[in-house]
Order: sequence, then C-alpha cells, then structure tokens
Amino acid sequence: MKRIYDLLVIGGGPGGYTAALYAARAGLSVAVLEKLSAGGQMALTDTVDNYPGFPEGIDGFSLGENMQLQAERFGAVTELAEVLDMDLSGKEKAVHTSEGTFWGKTVVISTGASPRKLGLPNEEFYTGKGLHYCAACDGMRYKGKTVAVLGGGDSAVADALALARIAEKVIIVHRRDTLRATKVYHQTLEEASNVTFLWNSEVTELLGQGKLSGIKLKHVQTGEETELSVDGVFVSIGREPSSGLVKNYLELDERGYIVAGENTATSLPGVYAVGDVRTKKLRQIVTAVADGAYAAYAAEEYIAQV
Ligand code: NAP
Repeated sequence: MKRIYDLLVIGGGPGGYTAALYAARAGLSVAVLEKLSAGGQMALTDTVDNYPGFPEGIDGFSLGENMQLQAERFGAVTELAEVLDMDLSGKEKAVHTSEGTFWGKTVVISTGASPRKLGLPNEEFYTGKGLHYCAACDGMRYKGKTVAVLGGGDSAVADALALARIAEKVIIVHRRDTLRATKVYHQTLEEASNVTFLWNSEVTELLGQGKLSGIKLKHVQTGEETELSVDGVFVSIGREPSSGLVKNYLELDERGYIVAGENTATSLPGVYAVGDVRTKKLRQIVTAVADGAYAAYAAEEYIAQV
C-alpha cells in the first residue's frame, strides 16, 4: 500500500535533520532520504568550533550522527536512498529514488552545496591523486610536504591554516591581490610562518604524470606564465548548490540556489528549502538548523490548511 508521509526530507544534513526533529516532535510522520550518511558536507569537517554548545568543538561526523539520532528518537525514519527524480507539482509529492518511490504531503529540500571545480582538463583524473577539495579529509596525506591552496575566501584561509599544522609549506594562490576572507583570519595567517601567498595568479593547467606534481600559473595582469612544483593542491574556491533535481519545479537564482527567504517557502506550496541550497547570506550550520525548524513549522501549518 502506498504510504504518504506528512514530510519527506531530502538530504540528511543539519537543516534536514532539524526539520525532521521538529516535525516528528510535532507529531508528523517524517522520512529523511539520504544518499550516504548523516551530516552532509558538515560530516567532512574535522572540528566544528562555531556551533554553540560544544566548548571544545566537535567533529562534524559525530554532530551529524547526533542530529540523526535525536530526530529518530521522536519517530523520524532514515531511508538510505539516492534521489533520482521527483514530481513536486501535485498535492501528493512523489520522490523517485534508487529504493523506489516515496510520497509526501510536504517536502523539505536540504541537498546542500558541493565544492566548485576549477573547470580544467584532467581535473577529474587528478582528483584524489594530488588534487583535493577537502583539507579536513585529505590534509593528513601531506605531512611535511608542500601544498597549494587555491582561493581567497574564508574556506581557503581555514583550509590553509589547518594544512599549515600538517604540511611543511602552504602557498595560498589567489586571483586577486587581497583576501576576501574575514579579518579575524588575517592575523592568524600572518602568524603562521609556513604560509606564503601568490597574488594575482590563476591556475591554467594541472601538471604531472599519473599524479599531480605541480600547477601552471598565469599572472592576471601581466599574462606571465610560471610553473609551481607542489605535492598537493587543495581547491577551495566556493561551492555550488545541489539543486539540479528541482530545477524544473522551483525558482532558482542566477547561481542555481533555490529562491527562498527566512520562512524557507519556495515557489511551490508545501515545498521548503533549507540550509546551503537556498538563497541566503550566511551559510553556516546554525543558519541551516534555524531553517530546518522554520520549515517544519511551515509544513505543519500547510498540512493543517489543505
Ligand atoms: P567564497 O567566500 O565565495 O570565496 C571563494 C573564493 O574563491 C574567492 O576568493 C574567489 O575569488 C575564489 N574563486 C572563485 N571561483 C574561482 C575560480 N574559478 N578560480 C579561482 N578562484 C576562484 O567561498 P568560501 O570561502 O567557500 O565561503 C563560502 C561561505 O562560507 C562564506 O559565507 C564564508 O564566510 C562561509 N565560511 C565560514 C567559515 C567559518 O569558519 N565561519 C569557514 C568557511 C566558510 P574572488 O575573491 O576573486 O571572487
């Protein structure tokens, strides 16, 4: 028999599991559809230091697992399933997955965002062979070695500082002559004696034979080309929303984020977007969980009205 959940949550990150927690506590039936494991991108974070309640910090994987357990304590279920397609237009919303079709009266999209790629030939080939997108996950491979970090935002700086504790030398390569990262990071960076900068530089080629051993750089003002030998490269140039599956149903902004405000309402009634996948200024765990709470509240109101 076809089971229709009050709420289907797509993506088990902090926003998704908070929506599940609040909805389950309000007595709604809830299923969270998750491809891999709880926590989303957060699960790849070594230490989360800016989520309140953990004075010593907490690793992202444990925090994700805890959020899952907390939602499940109130009756939410987790289905390990990869979402392949969906039909959100009707009153009963269908989500087609690798494990069959799930139905929901309301749907919360919390699919997050993933690292932006450089868009260079051979990028896929070198991924994991000297080219990485997660310093917390792969940094330990470069103990005593030389690495480059690409980017100039908070992520790049946080990655560079984490890598500076492991690698012998860290070179931040940025296409501008100044960092975009918040000021709080600047002094810490200056104090890290093994971090240097290459300004106004763009990576034009990944070099190596079988494994990455360097990068070709172009000076953005002079056009001069140079080569830099490194043992590893960490790409930290921002993220892209995972919104491809809903692009035919929901309004997206020009960068692909689902258009939704603080009330998490999307362009379709009964469908809510939470966390990194929606339009917002500050993409953090605390803002994602706040979204989750609101989405559950909105879903409850919607169900009471239809
Ligand atoms: P971001 O702020 O968008 O910065 C991306 C950086 O990568 C920019 O410096 C950008 O250069 C550069 N970039 C983008 N595309 C590039 C390309 N194709 N080639 C070379 N460089 C490229 O992204 P983010 O650092 O990932 O941060 C995202 C959000 O998460 C921000 O709101 C940030 O504050 C937050 N965050 C917070 C923390 C924390 O600890 N509180 C840690 C990490 C991230 P331009 O400057 O020239 O555009």
